[in-house]
Amino acid sequence: MLPRDSQFDLVVLGAGPSGLAAAWEASLAGRSVCVIERERSLGGLCATVERDGYRFDLGGHRIISKRATLVDRLRALMGDELEERSRKSEILLDGVRYRYPLVARELASKLSPSLAARATRDYLFERALDLARPRRDDRTFRQWVERRFGRTLYELFFGPYTEKLWGLSADELSSDWASQRISLLNLADVGLRLAGLRRGGARTYARRYLYPRNGIGALFERLARELASRGVVFVTGARASALARDPDTNRVTTVRVEAIYASEPARDVRCGAIVSTVPLAQLAALAAPSDRALDAHARALEHRAMRFVNVMLDGPGPVLGATWVYAADARLSITRIQEPAERSPSMTPEQRASLMLELPVDPDTDAWREPDETLAARLLDELASVGIDVRSRVRGAFSSFARYAYPVYRVGYERHRDALFAAISPIDNLWTIGRQGLFRYVFMDTAMEMGFAAARAFIEGRRADTGALFAIDNNPTPHEVASVLR
Ligand SMILES: Cc1cc2nc3c(=O)[nH]c(=O)nc-3n(C[C@H](O)[C@H](O)[C@H](O)COP(=O)(O)OP(=O)(O)OC[C@H]3O[C@@H](n4cnc5c(N)ncnc54)[C@H](O)[C@@H]3O)c2cc1C
Repeated sequence: MLPRDSQFDLVVLGAGPSGLAAAWEASLAGRSVCVIERERSLGGLCATVERDGYRFDLGGHRIISKRATLVDRLRALMGDELEERSRKSEILLDGVRYRYPLVARELASKLSPSLAARATRDYLFERALDLARPRRDDRTFRQWVERRFGRTLYELFFGPYTEKLWGLSADELSSDWASQRISLLNLADVGLRLAGLRRGGARTYARRYLYPRNGIGALFERLARELASRGVVFVTGARASALARDPDTNRVTTVRVEAIYASEPARDVRCGAIVSTVPLAQLAALAAPSDRALDAHARALEHRAMRFVNVMLDGPGPVLGATWVYAADARLSITRIQEPAERSPSMTPEQRASLMLELPVDPDTDAWREPDETLAARLLDELASVGIDVRSRVRGAFSSFARYAYPVYRVGYERHRDALFAAISPIDNLWTIGRQGLFRYVFMDTAMEMGFAAARAFIEGRRADTGALFAIDNNPTPHEVASVLR
């Protein structure tokens, strides 16, 4: 832990991409920085775990960014360990695998003619309805997708997948998520292809991406080492348990830090400013502990958790021959299957293969607690039922957990998020950023951009402005319906 009475210009809560980016920028400007991270490891959701020479991300991560400066910085940091890869993804539906992006000829040969006819009819019906009633309500995910895609395609794919991923009915999920993640142009493109109304080459999709040879976590471990060599102090396995403010200025002056896994006395760390990447509801409780009115808002902001079942296999790959396969299929509890070696051969020992199964679950449920052995056996039986049978090759399986994987955009969530923003915003020297800190579905490049922006504001002596950070573009990748599936 820390020495008693430490003092830093900046304290960063959380060592995921956004927190490390803030620490990077501030330390380059010569500021003293301390990063407090509740896990024992660094990288947040962008960590990679290793066992017996097999490496697994928490859900496969890839770097796609149109931010040239950020990409240059990452390339300079990683050198030739950052490789350019190209992805191959598929959709598994009713036991049939479809290439993604969708290929008209493949659809025509695999979809039944009656289904294609129904999809076309529904799609055209929605277009006609749009002309008659252009101001239709599309507040929920179901309304949004059906209006643009038609009911058949919704029921075939988007509905089952979405309800499995979020654990919510698509009538309870806000259309914000769909409108942020599904490109309209692309949606129409997919609809037309599914309906057999558009043929020819696929549109331009983001196929190429950057990936560190030893998994996404290698990037953030390298960054942390670089920061430590500049004097940034890391305190892991510890959390902020209280923030003290100066009553005259209302600025945070001290962070109380408590060890999570060790019985050590709590320490007070004095700070000039704080960049927080912890879940917004937790931060609001730290910043305004006596405001009971905030409790209901904090409880209303939910996060979907993920359990990643990492399966180590005997014998060489490829098993899927695809980087990942979306599992819309109702026979499968999982939402996605990844083959890590398709991202980098270094993700498995030589002549070995692996699969990573993504299972959305809620913490404190049986599926969260179920032992690896029985859960993996059940999921692998399910996979075998759709034609992917690796059961005779399993060397072992273990799980990784992400308690805060996805902010849940339940209809009406904005009101609760904004109430928490309002509670924090009077504090001039407290920035809340990142996927959990802003309760916003951002990717890692946007998370890092937020870290840079918060640190620059701090360096330049500007007050914290949540609205400005929230407005940072989520840098949508070229029209890609697959991104709705993440
Ligand atoms: C399955 C999955 C796949 C994804 N794939 C991609 C992809 O391919 N490409 C992409 O760009 N993005 C992807 N993402 C998104 C990416 O993971 C996030 O955008 C990114 O991790 C956000 O960074 P962050 O620092 O804001 O949050 P996080 O990574 O969540 O980091 C927050 C950190 O804060 C710590 N923390 C929490 N509470 C406390 C506390 N009280 N005290 C101290 N520390 C605390 C956490 O332990 C964590 O380390 C994916 C996400 C998931 C779930």
